[in-house]
Amino acid sequence: MLPDTVYDERRRQMVQRQLAARGIVNEEVLTAMSKVPRHRFVPVDLRDRAYEDTPLPIDAGQTISQPYMVAYMVEALALEREDKILEIGTGSGYQTAVLAELLENIYTVEIRPELAQKAMVLLNELGYGDRVHLRVADGNLGFPAEAPFAGIIVTAATFDIPVPLIEQLSGKGKIIIPIGTAERQVLVRATKTEEGLKTEQLFGCVFVPLVRKDYDNN
Ligand code: SAH
Repeated sequence: MLPDTVYDERRRQMVQRQLAARGIVNEEVLTAMSKVPRHRFVPVDLRDRAYEDTPLPIDAGQTISQPYMVAYMVEALALEREDKILEIGTGSGYQTAVLAELLENIYTVEIRPELAQKAMVLLNELGYGDRVHLRVADGNLGFPAEAPFAGIIVTAATFDIPVPLIEQLSGKGKIIIPIGTAERQVLVRATKTEEGLKTEQLFGCVFVPLVRKDYDNN
């Protein structure tokens, strides 16, 4: 393990070289990414790699997303501080913490209880606990008790947008979601309009699959 000052410097470089230099322009997103200690969200033996330009493995065969992907997805939501935002796939809790830097409240759903519990302990320890509302459940069903949401970010891949998520978006709400096969997807932004969903394809990506309870027996 390295001294905190080394991680701070690496994080500063990550924000400059991987995010700002590649077109992330939202200052609030850049500030949030410069604050959240990503090295705390990766397994201890991978801490020294926490600020590399790559996803990394976490528990249960899952991954913590690449920093650029997190920044891009959060920027693509164009959120306001008071917005009600839902994240599906808490995982390590890293993106949850970035969203908690930007929002009064963040709602998040994780299907694997052991990941949810670990993420919540860390989020509490880092002072984000009051703003994070975590539910252990199948994210295909959204978070009905708290709907509607101005934005939904899904950090696992699926063939099509789960209907409950579309239903739980407010008017003009946006959903950012990787759509495709298990091997390869396109990051899609779908915006609810009076004429229906308007979808934009952002770019190619690779996420772990969004588990469907009924099919995957998981
Ligand atoms: N944003 C997270 C990404 C974690 S990977 C991070 O940066 O750490 C995707 C996560 O989605 C995994 O934790 C996985 O358990 C979770 N997941 C998969 N299917 C799900 C479902 N149906 N509902 C909720 N979470 C799900």
